[in-house]
Amino acid sequence: MKTELQKLLIEAENLQEQNKKFFAYLRKKKPKNLDYIVHELHLEAFDKINCLECANCCKSLGPRITDKDIEKLSKALKMKSAVFIETYLRIDEDRDFVFRTMPCPFLMNDNYCMVYENRPKACREYPHTDSRQFYKLLNLTLQNTKTCPAVVLIVEELKTKV
Ligand code: SF4
Ligand code: SF4
Repeated sequence: MKTELQKLLIEAENLQEQNKKFFAYLRKKKPKNLDYIVHELHLEAFDKINCLECANCCKSLGPRITDKDIEKLSKALKMKSAVFIETYLRIDEDRDFVFRTMPCPFLMNDNYCMVYENRPKACREYPHTDSRQFYKLLNLTLQNTKTCPAVVLIVEELKTKV
């Protein structure tokens, strides 16, 4: 990961207590237009950050793999679903399928995703800062400040907007 992206994660680590208080404030206040503001900040953050210089989510978070994901991925890889599951997946403590190994087995050396067109839904939606009803994702977003530099940027800017 590029040094400046690492710096953002370190900065967020140092701001954890402040961030917890800020998210408690958001939970209580439920600011109007929160989705609109966060979606704008999401676009700004991903204009500044190139995921190919980061890939931290693919290296450190295990996305939940749905039955639909298994169907798409095994078809794309021309494997039987059972073989795909046996080769790449395990069941975690929540009884969900996740990748057997991390970093993700489909992450290539240049940080490209080998199965990009067919990547799991959780990968497509991460870090959820362009989702509707952001208010429901506050805990998850606070958690994501530990992993995603873009989320750190979004949260820092959000502090100046609400
Ligand atoms: S979504 Fe976040 S953690 Fe994942 S590669 Fe992009 S900036 Fe990095
Ligand atoms: S499937 Fe692709 S996008 Fe998802 S974690 Fe693996 S490399 Fe990253």
